[in-house]
Amino acid sequence: MSKKTVSIIDVKNHVGEEVTIGAWVANKSGKGKIAFLQLRDGSAFFQGVAFKPNFIEKFGEEEGLAKFDTIKKLSQETSVLVKGIVKEDERSKFGYELDITDIDIIGASTDYPITPKEHGTDFLMDNRHLWLRSRKQMAMMQIRNAIIYATYDFFDQNGFIKFDSPILSGNAAEDSTELFETDYFGNPAFLSQSGQLYLEAGAMALGRVFDFGPVFRAEKSKTRRHLTEFWMMDAEYPFVSHEESLDLQEAYVKALIQGVLDRALHALEVLERDTDLLQKYVSEPFKRISYDEVIDLLQEHEKDADADYEHIERGDDFGSPHETWVSNYFGVPTFVTNYPAAIKAFYMKPVPGNPERVLCADLLAPEGYGEIIGGSMREEDYDALVAKMDELGMDKSEYEFYLDLRKYGSVPHGGFGIGIERMVTFVAGTKHIREAIPFPRMLHRIKP
Ligand code: ATP
Repeated sequence: MSKKTVSIIDVKNHVGEEVTIGAWVANKSGKGKIAFLQLRDGSAFFQGVAFKPNFIEKFGEEEGLAKFDTIKKLSQETSVLVKGIVKEDERSKFGYELDITDIDIIGASTDYPITPKEHGTDFLMDNRHLWLRSRKQMAMMQIRNAIIYATYDFFDQNGFIKFDSPILSGNAAEDSTELFETDYFGNPAFLSQSGQLYLEAGAMALGRVFDFGPVFRAEKSKTRRHLTEFWMMDAEYPFVSHEESLDLQEAYVKALIQGVLDRALHALEVLERDTDLLQKYVSEPFKRISYDEVIDLLQEHEKDADADYEHIERGDDFGSPHETWVSNYFGVPTFVTNYPAAIKAFYMKPVPGNPERVLCADLLAPEGYGEIIGGSMREEDYDALVAKMDELGMDKSEYEFYLDLRKYGSVPHGGFGIGIERMVTFVAGTKHIREAIPFPRMLHRIKP
């Protein structure tokens, strides 16, 4: 049998032709003269149909019967090279099926643990290496891929250069309680929890820059939005205002959603994601509202029937229920700007005339997906940054390179970081972040 194969997702270009597909048998049914195979090849699933009389006609009684018998006995996840004629099939969601004309077994599969019945999450997570083969998990990975592709495309089109921040770091960027420490030839080193500080150096050297890589946070909280290893994309740009920075973030998030609609529509259909909602997020402007206005709103509505959150005092950080309510209230992704300086990072620039608030924004996704972006303008003034670090009792010797950026031609600059898995979860419409990364690492999960 010819080894030149076509992908299932491409069979629409081969209607009426005989093609060869390299696939795995996801499921099997049928009786008597007919066998149905659910075939999976990583691009999509579709049905192959084998009809006994056709095999006898093509191969003769003995060989034809043997081939048909092989098909009937195929077990779940056997890998095969299957040959057949592509037919349109209006009854199936996918729209096509394969009239099987020949089959070769490539690799046997015995007692595959994940059967079509329901399994518990722990069992599926223990078998993550196999669970990835299922329809929904495959769709999640296709959406992740579309988001990564759209990220590179967007930044390339907007004049950014990819600038890779290190993963091992000799100092702690923000809150050291969340850092994973490791031994670096007898000295402590930390796994990066954000590339931002290094990216600022990149912005002063190259202008618009972005990085994209794994970051690590020893998150002790067990929530459906937190991983201990996740992929973060940071962008940093000089000579911008806060408003311009928000414009760029909005354009980027819209490009990601559009990128998934363009490149992974089939995956969205598999997940039964409401694509009208996604279209709405692309076409309508995002909401922008200040922290103080959100506090007013939350306090005003706290007795409402749908207000599933606790009373919040001005100055406090939001919990997930607050974020969920706010973004649902507006129904579109919402930038909450100008948080209290006391609950944000040391490098954020104060709002002119209001040192209690900083020029920052978190982007909250609607439908309860929570924060997907954290960004800010960075303090560019050397003296102001030193004063802030002193106020917080920080060890300035650890940040010499960072302070240097304010000594030699400092400029207004800002940037943001997005957790790719949060974005995948939101676009896919999946509630738990563990399905947005191939092998999730969480508080109680580091295998497989
Ligand atoms: P949160 O308050 O939700 O824990 P954060 O304020 O610590 O987030 P930032 O430091 O601003 O988040 O990080 C930027 C982005 O990285 C977040 O907007 C989010 O998309 C993502 N992110 C942060 N922590 C995690 C995590 N533990 N797992 C997955 N993504 C994360």
